[in-house]
Amino acid sequence: MNLGGRTLVIASGNTGKVREIGEILAPLGWTVHAQSKWDVPEAVEDGLTFVENALIKARNAASITGMPALGDDSGLVVDVLEGRPGLRSARYAGGGGSRDNIDKLLGELSGIPAAQRTAHFYCVMVVLQRPDDPAPLIATGRWDGRIADSPRGYGGFGYDPVFFDPERGCTAAELPQEEKNAISHRGLALQGLVGLLGREPGLEA
Ligand code: IMP
Repeated sequence: MNLGGRTLVIASGNTGKVREIGEILAPLGWTVHAQSKWDVPEAVEDGLTFVENALIKARNAASITGMPALGDDSGLVVDVLEGRPGLRSARYAGGGGSRDNIDKLLGELSGIPAAQRTAHFYCVMVVLQRPDDPAPLIATGRWDGRIADSPRGYGGFGYDPVFFDPERGCTAAELPQEEKNAISHRGLALQGLVGLLGREPGLEA
């Protein structure tokens, strides 16, 4: 893949995410733009895996803007629930928000002992040079933990208050944001992607 210019469209409507990715890629000489600059309509995320959905989003942005695009997807995977909430993490309880999603998850896990409450956050980031790019860059990250019995902490978002990290002895919502970024599924995927972008021929600073 030859990315030529060092500009990426971020296939996301989440301004916080676009800013965070931009801050990490800027020192490496990359300029990022939100897809909203081109009024890119939301892609239909009908893949069966996180990586398929990330590719669908990147392909949608690349085809409308004519520029290389970065797509991402992430969610929570709970082993005893056969991977749920998985791709439906954002709308697990039907669209009512994080509190409802957490309540539904805790309800499904009620009575299940700690040893069987293992889970991980998963994130994938892909870069397509063009919509029909046959060789996307793909980086993944995972963060292993288990689902707590009840919510703890006020930081982060989504399932953070019930995602317990046994190594650190606290939930994701109890970690300072910088610490979370350094170890999280998203942080790891982004670090991996930075490495892949740096290895592309002709892209050295
Ligand atoms: P998206 O990939 O940003 O669309 O995230 C999908 C959904 O996964 C979010 O709405 C959250 O419910 C969940 N999720 C992803 N990453 C995290 C995280 O770092 N903390 C808590 N929940 C997360």
